[in-house]
Amino acid sequence: MSRVDRVSRTAEIAADPNRVIIFDTTLRDGEQAPGFSMSAEAKLKMAHVLRDLGVDVIEAGFAAASPGDEECIRRVCGEIEGPVFASLSRANEKDIDASFRALAPAPKSHRRCHVFLATSPIHRSAKLRMSTNEVLATISRTVEYAASLFDDVEFSAEDAFRTEPEFLAEALMAAADAGAQTLNVPDTVGYATPEESRQRFAYLDGIIRPRHADIIFSSHAHNDLGLAVANSLAAVEGGARQIEGAINGIGERAGNASVEEVIMALRTRADRYGVTIGSESRHLVRASETLREVTETVIARNKAIVGLNAFAHEAGIHQHGMMADSRTYEIMRPEDVGFEGSYFVLGKHSGRHAVGKRAEALGHALEGQRLAEVFAGFKRRADEIGEINDAELTAIIAATAPQQDKTYAAAG
Ligand code: MN
Repeated sequence: MSRVDRVSRTAEIAADPNRVIIFDTTLRDGEQAPGFSMSAEAKLKMAHVLRDLGVDVIEAGFAAASPGDEECIRRVCGEIEGPVFASLSRANEKDIDASFRALAPAPKSHRRCHVFLATSPIHRSAKLRMSTNEVLATISRTVEYAASLFDDVEFSAEDAFRTEPEFLAEALMAAADAGAQTLNVPDTVGYATPEESRQRFAYLDGIIRPRHADIIFSSHAHNDLGLAVANSLAAVEGGARQIEGAINGIGERAGNASVEEVIMALRTRADRYGVTIGSESRHLVRASETLREVTETVIARNKAIVGLNAFAHEAGIHQHGMMADSRTYEIMRPEDVGFEGSYFVLGKHSGRHAVGKRAEALGHALEGQRLAEVFAGFKRRADEIGEINDAELTAIIAATAPQQDKTYAAAG
């Protein structure tokens, strides 16, 4: 079959040049990190949520890593319909065969072989012991082999950002010539800066696109310097149309770009990036919670998008603004990511207005002197214990109630 006859789901999506493909690697790079390994059941559960979330590609595992991994990919892609499924393969025929077996249950148009080979000087000399010519020859041979089995092939130049730009372009050109439709430029060690990321993608695009008009450039950023999401967004500005990431930002070391942050940044700042995505963001909180549950992990309260504090307000000035118009302090609607609404926390930073409102909701209409007394009691208690929940507030109202009220209450 010649290359023009291929029909892949990826090619269909990429027909729109402004569409960014979301490639989720929670089940591969994410799962590979200490503390995040998942059973087949856990991966299946997670993959169902990822399907609902509408990620375009699910990297379900690394088939050659173990017979268990191969079987797990087979189950996931056999049970779930919709996304493209990818399996990672080192640049050798044996790994590609394992990916082929693992992905067999998925329709051919939805199977992606993801081949990788390191290209940086340190990886070439210390790890691979290969010359640049050997690296190029290996890429050509193995990508061509993958393309003989799959209609959808992605090639990753591992440690791309520490690779000489000219050699990186040569390596990626070899992969495209051999039949890869997606070229991933991973910042494997989290070393890049946003401006460098934008420039590198623009540079590669300028060299490769004239010969391969439909090529898709992909970003795979790591968060060692806390720049994974920033670098991924900069990659889009440089022409990348696939972003790889993981839910809750899990992945090797400090993790991958967080999928929820990427999705909401592209959505919230569509004015700036001018691209579209296919994901249903209202499933983000559920995706985050499912991952926490199956891996028995926690995330920080202040985690962007899905953290407990992402839509919570305690400070009086903020609560007052939020009551008037939520746009004063929120750039996204909580419902759009899957929260039920904004969350007002009562604590020592809260104002009289918010305390009065909460008391009213609990059935105590307080005004003037009475509200002042309750508010004073509230501040004393908040200094002691921090957050004041409904039970605490009710107790404060009772404790500060005027004597005659208590007498009447006792008499009644
Ligand atoms: Mn990685």
